[in-house]
Amino acid sequence: MNPALIISTCLLSPLFAQGASLPLGHDRLRPLPPVVNPGEASTPDRAGTAPSDAVVLFDGTDLSRWSAMNGEPTQWVVRDGVMECVPGSGYIRTRQNFGECQLHLEFATPAKAEGSSQGRGNSGVFFGGTRYEIQVLDSYENVTYADGSCGAIYNQYPPLVNACRPPGEWQSYDILWTPPRFDGDGRLLAPARITAFQNGVLIHHNTELFGETAWLERKPFTPHPEKQFLALQDHGNPVRYRNVWVRELGTPGKPEFQLPDALLDSYCGDYGDADNRVVTKVSRRDGNLVLRYRGVDFVMFAESPTHFFAKTVDVQADFDFSGPEKTVRISVGEDGGTKLKKLR
Ligand code: MG
Repeated sequence: MNPALIISTCLLSPLFAQGASLPLGHDRLRPLPPVVNPGEASTPDRAGTAPSDAVVLFDGTDLSRWSAMNGEPTQWVVRDGVMECVPGSGYIRTRQNFGECQLHLEFATPAKAEGSSQGRGNSGVFFGGTRYEIQVLDSYENVTYADGSCGAIYNQYPPLVNACRPPGEWQSYDILWTPPRFDGDGRLLAPARITAFQNGVLIHHNTELFGETAWLERKPFTPHPEKQFLALQDHGNPVRYRNVWVRELGTPGKPEFQLPDALLDSYCGDYGDADNRVVTKVSRRDGNLVLRYRGVDFVMFAESPTHFFAKTVDVQADFDFSGPEKTVRISVGEDGGTKLKKLR
């Protein structure tokens, strides 16, 4: 072929055009994937272990990564290396917040199957705070409405199949959670999506949610920060959990924590300068502090019990309540910060 024709053919080739923006095929300098020790798989008698890059939420020892819904210690119990819902004690939530993630957990509904329909072995796994539930239920030879059966995205999508094991046996969920995206004005840019496996069997394939999950209601999405706590439901049945871990996906950024309401409320109030002029006001909106500073409201996210940061601008707040004077240091960029005292 004429060399000029070869060159022009290459230039016109869509493949060539794409290739300019793709990594070179077989590029020996391309970074290798991070090495992850995948951990041990569970057996019926023994819980496995988490991959080396996971945040371990429960490894059989304690509930330090969990709290009651107000942030105080939960009444759920740990016995024989598993955590168990104590009926009437309420939901539990993770202390850390997560956005896009891979969640693994194992659950067992009570071995003695009591009750029927929604009353048998009911619990639930929540993403986005308590907005989006994947049902946990004893659906082994227990009929209920399809979008409330085990593995359902509650009141939205039944699982693709019923892959349940008999009551009392350990079962697994592996769930990929993609939170909904909102623009700065709270408009929905992309709905939440879920892919899930129960006992290794696909039950949701990149399923788009059409809003929050709720009993009797079809709720639309309402704007919320991307990272939220995960929660497990107390629905009046002593459902057990083991080997719970989560891997953050995407660009996780700084770790964020859901602090107890009482601690957040203790920070709320007016803060002022040496002449007692009010410079900033701190309030609470759901699980976040809101800092009114220079006439602008900043939603603040907790990186620790005393350190908070905004996401729209590099504004940070550090509370120090350890001395006789309660203070907050507010810094913008690297300005060194302004220390203010709590007035009321
Ligand atoms: Mg439930």
